[in-house]
Amino acid sequence: LFIAFEGGDGAGKSTQAALLTQALQDAGRTVVRTREPGGTPVGEKLRSLVLEHGHGQIDARTEALIFAASRAAHVEQVIHPALDRGDVVVCDRYIDSSVAYQGAGRNLGTDEVRSVNEWATGGLVPDLTVLLDVDPEAGRSRRTAADGAEDRLESEPDSFHGSIRSAFLALAEDSPRRYLVLDAAAPVPELAQTILARVEELLP
Ligand code: C5P
Repeated sequence: LFIAFEGGDGAGKSTQAALLTQALQDAGRTVVRTREPGGTPVGEKLRSLVLEHGHGQIDARTEALIFAASRAAHVEQVIHPALDRGDVVVCDRYIDSSVAYQGAGRNLGTDEVRSVNEWATGGLVPDLTVLLDVDPEAGRSRRTAADGAEDRLESEPDSFHGSIRSAFLALAEDSPRRYLVLDAAAPVPELAQTILARVEELLP
């Protein structure tokens, strides 16, 4: 079972991914929790490449291709092997983040970015995508200085984060059965419970 968490910066994806992983492990499941961009040694290097070089040093297309390359390695080396073993994969960000950030946010076109990524991943789609929908203003105040990511996007106006939010919601509307869309402002334990209930329905 392949579960992806998506949403804007400050949505609480990592918190919920950790809580879901713990709950599934407590229930005896083997879970591989991983993150994008990263998840492999090469992927982590690509991640730091993008995060260390601000927008302006890496143009939007190059950035989109680096994310896609990182994702290709991630699918090949981490996600497919885990799914083949029958593990549950909990992934912090997947293709939708590229469609939203590079396709909409950086204006590269959502269809174009989606097709590059479908090629990169061989068409692997999550069984469930949990979209934590965050208001850009709320997200701004929730972003922490934990991983340096904010340095890169902190200067972006709320309109940038607003277009990312709309792109995520449009993706969810396109395939409603594959998405669980939740208000990121809801209490953490309540969100965790709702997510776990939905995942339990999908478990073999
Ligand atoms: O996963 P995390 O939130 O730490 O992402 C690191 C940074 O990369 C964030 O600022 C996120 O907005 C950005 N990002 C991006 N394009 C992607 C995925 C993430 O700009 N496709």
